[in-house]
Amino acid sequence: MQRERVSVLIIGGGSVGLAAAAFLAGRGVRPVVVEQRAGLSGHPRATSIGPRAWEALLSTGRTEEFLAVAERRSESRPPIKARTIAEYDPGTAAPQADVSREFLDAIEDFTPVADLGGCGQHRIDPVLLRTVLDGGGEVRWHTRMVALRQADDHVAVTVEDTAGGRGSVIQADYVVAADGADSATRELVGISRSGQGVVGGHHINVLFRADLSELIAGRGFFSPAFVTHPEAGGMLIALDEGDRWCYHIMLPPDGDAALEDYTHERCREVIRTGLGVPEQELEILSTAPWRPTAWLADRFRERRVFLAGDAARTLPPVGVFGLTTGICDAYNLAWKLAAVLGGAAGAGLLDSYEAERRPRSAFLLDQVLRRVRNPRLHWGGTPAQRTAAGIMEHAIAHLCDLYDSAAIVEPRTEPLSFVDARANLDGSPGTRVPHLWLERGGRRLSTVDLAAGVFTLLAGRDGEPWADAARTAGKELGVPVVALTLGSDPWTRVAEGRWEDAAGITARGALLVRPDGQVAWRSPGAGQDHAVRMGQVLRHVLDR
Ligand SMILES: Cc1cc2nc3c(=O)[nH]c(=O)nc-3n(C[C@H](O)[C@H](O)[C@H](O)COP(=O)(O)OP(=O)(O)OC[C@H]3O[C@@H](n4cnc5c(N)ncnc54)[C@H](O)[C@@H]3O)c2cc1C
Repeated sequence: MQRERVSVLIIGGGSVGLAAAAFLAGRGVRPVVVEQRAGLSGHPRATSIGPRAWEALLSTGRTEEFLAVAERRSESRPPIKARTIAEYDPGTAAPQADVSREFLDAIEDFTPVADLGGCGQHRIDPVLLRTVLDGGGEVRWHTRMVALRQADDHVAVTVEDTAGGRGSVIQADYVVAADGADSATRELVGISRSGQGVVGGHHINVLFRADLSELIAGRGFFSPAFVTHPEAGGMLIALDEGDRWCYHIMLPPDGDAALEDYTHERCREVIRTGLGVPEQELEILSTAPWRPTAWLADRFRERRVFLAGDAARTLPPVGVFGLTTGICDAYNLAWKLAAVLGGAAGAGLLDSYEAERRPRSAFLLDQVLRRVRNPRLHWGGTPAQRTAAGIMEHAIAHLCDLYDSAAIVEPRTEPLSFVDARANLDGSPGTRVPHLWLERGGRRLSTVDLAAGVFTLLAGRDGEPWADAARTAGKELGVPVVALTLGSDPWTRVAEGRWEDAAGITARGALLVRPDGQVAWRSPGAGQDHAVRMGQVLRHVLDR
């Protein structure tokens, strides 16, 4: 059997596997992805992702390409609810909350990507694939992982060609299991999962092509549309400027038909009923049954194998958390793997992946389940009602996390606020770097962009001793560190005192931000022995 050696093998070429590969390829690692399908999946489940995922994706530098596929929240229209689409009358229909717009208003002071919202996976994946290939990575289609064995210094993964069944062994320093909710990798390495499991009924996600322009004319553009017809209950989502659509048929819990009865012909009839146009021409492209499930892997790592995306947890699709969280897993893990493989960090840094991502996942799972139990509070209600139900404001749940691991120096101990984003994004260690617009080289960019992909020291305007010390410590340890004094750096324009206010530091203080945008350490003031302290901090974070 043929054998080869790679540094990182990613099992699964869905959006999370591709994101992990894209983040690694940008860091000098040449990841190999094995995917059993013949190519990219053209049938999206996720049609929108949250701001942290957008921040991570833009860190790849493919800004123009991602901007070209992302819908703008500022141009979105509120969803609609009607018995059928044809019966929807904007003049008389009860207005629905414009959740996308409200979300934009809530996040725009806290992230540079506030306006980016809807985007089907089928539009994200091609950009990720190009990023992987241009960065020297490889994606092997038709290739299924069938066995896996861990050794002290590698993982031996047996893969088979799905077309011809030919097998080979790939030895990898590390494996990322991004093989989805039913992850065979997770089972092979013996990681169990816990949770409620199935938390809702059967649905069928039907991808179809149809010209609905006549139907929509005069009704205003909408997406999604909730259809309440008793025989066609579900949700219609526009893709690709309304040429292709997804109809999520909700199978009636007490209906007489089983999942298998939903042939293409039957799906077509249900969709026509939901549209309210019995003769509507439409071409069914593919169908994908699904049920909402709530699972959390009991561990995110077994020796050299790391779980990411749905392999690590499944979240019912309420609130755009599933793929968002998977992309954030990949972003968290990629720089750590690259640092360990490149010799910049000790292997202990990798322990922080589970320490950071599993509690975050458990928290989000709990939040999503509260929304499933109280959908009215997700789509409406007041902050006071949500707080009483233990529901964090949607924008805050997306933007604010707090890591407590050995890769953070003295993490914040105060719990996150459920209602106040500014109080959470205050520069304290373990949180995402505060967002502040500034101008550099004639371009407007955010502190979040500045700190993407590399260790970045962002000091106050008189924080040159920290900046100097960070550059020196980085050189000594062989770790690239960018260091700036915001407010006095000649290339960067920012209103005096703004950064210090945002970061919770004086003019002589500083934040050290990790390559994934999380604050690793903060000195609120001038401090002492800068060179010694910076060396200690970097060694601590990198397990050196
Ligand atoms: C109806 C619905 C709507 C959703 N909407 C949203 C949304 O709007 N926003 C959001 O953030 N999330 C959403 N989600 C969640 C989101 O779709 C998932 O979290 C995300 O797609 C998971 O991606 P993944 O790459 O981890 O897994 P998958 O997409 O399942 O990819 C796993 C890949 O691994 C491959 N694979 C499996 N086993 C092997 C093997 N042995 N060898 C090789 N390859 C293998 C599979 O072929 C597959 O391509 C939604 C989910 C559903 C069900």
